[in-house]
Amino acid sequence: MGIKVAKFGGSSLASGEQIAKAVAIITADPDRRYVVASAPGKRSADDIKVTDLLYQLWENRNGSYQPILAAIKQRFADIEAELGVEIGLDAHLAHIEDHLTSGVGPEYYASRGEYLNSMLLAAHLGWKFVDSANVVRFTAAGPLDADQTEARLVEALAKYDRAVIPGFYGATEDGVVKTFSRGGSDVTGALVARAARAEVYENWTDVSGILVADPRIVKSPPSIERVTYVALRELTYLGATVLHEDAITPVRERGIPINIRNTNEPTHSGTWIEATPPVEKDGPAILGVAGKPGYTAVTIHKAQWAGTFGIATVLLRLFADARVAVDLALTGVDTWTIVVPSATLAPALDSILASIRELFAPDTLDVRADLTLMGIVESGSAPRGWVTARLADALVTADIPTHAIAFTGDLHVLAIDTSQYQKAVRAIYSALAETRVVVMKGKPPTPSATLPFGATKRRAESTASRRSQRGQAPLSHP
Ligand code: ASP
Repeated sequence: MGIKVAKFGGSSLASGEQIAKAVAIITADPDRRYVVASAPGKRSADDIKVTDLLYQLWENRNGSYQPILAAIKQRFADIEAELGVEIGLDAHLAHIEDHLTSGVGPEYYASRGEYLNSMLLAAHLGWKFVDSANVVRFTAAGPLDADQTEARLVEALAKYDRAVIPGFYGATEDGVVKTFSRGGSDVTGALVARAARAEVYENWTDVSGILVADPRIVKSPPSIERVTYVALRELTYLGATVLHEDAITPVRERGIPINIRNTNEPTHSGTWIEATPPVEKDGPAILGVAGKPGYTAVTIHKAQWAGTFGIATVLLRLFADARVAVDLALTGVDTWTIVVPSATLAPALDSILASIRELFAPDTLDVRADLTLMGIVESGSAPRGWVTARLADALVTADIPTHAIAFTGDLHVLAIDTSQYQKAVRAIYSALAETRVVVMKGKPPTPSATLPFGATKRRAESTASRRSQRGQAPLSHP
């Protein structure tokens, strides 16, 4: 059989009890041969992640760091006792403390959570511990050296049939420890899966897959069963917090599917992320809805502007030169709207506006801040245009003005006032995610042929056919 790489997140390894669940999952399938571990996360809502404690330790290195070090030690001592293993914790912590005044940067400290937790897990499983400092290579300037990392991982994995590898960090050729950005154990998991030529990269967390919408806004949203790498990237970029965004490319390039699973509900199949999942013909019309606040729209209008060559090049270059990423650019007749992150725009705004005035002499130039960019990904189950119509209808019905809207591929992007975001998610969710599309045989598809989400296929079909036999239009979603 193939190899499965299983990455466990901080909440899955937060305590001895959680680690026991992870161990049960690992040992239930002999194909799970490589495990990537995070540092212990929160055990309860008001707990502190070990990684956060480690950053605090470094920040307080010249002052009263002792209580922080004691708290870190206690977390690992508890796990050690609960698992009944012995990894020489005192010596490891003394080593960390010794480094505090040696000028070593924060990344070394931050990495120790993954390092120690992986050692504990490896000891408990009786597996080999492979230190990521030896296999995940960073360049001195910072970014990952993907080729070196691949070569080193392939070599190490060939040596060991089973191993535990700490997530989140690696080292430069000179042995300086570097970390990915927060949540980076996902990236390590993807790199290991790629090097192992895994049949699947399992990412074990505390939710049963990627949820269709934010559960803090809509009640008990279901998880997405299947999604493409592309659609996932769109949702992640526009605010869905699921996987580290750099975790997709390494596995995507090799066509390795990612399966997001729940350590606390291991029988749930979670979400599968792959190149081309089959379209569920009668599934919900959208896969997910997400949003990211902190955007500003710059709108420029000039009479008789359309038809002039090169406006896009000149206009977009102003933003590029100021290192401001353009996340949405729309052009109508004589009008352009550019939507960009407010934080990066702020220092460059005055000079960009001055350049626009000088270069184009616009009739009007408007700046609208406090916007949220929303992403709505279509599932492909609805006829083309169905979601667009329904989306516009839902927003108008909920009295939510949109300042810009675009649709390309399977993604709708819209800019709304941030104050309207929660209302918009609820409206879109109830109009598009809580409904299934039913296209009746022999009849043109109708946008109102829907049933509440969760209604079975049979019920959907029989309701539709009963109605069509009676010559009635199908029910709209309530
Ligand atoms: N422990 C690190 C963090 O809290 C990395 C990770 O868990 O993926 O960000």
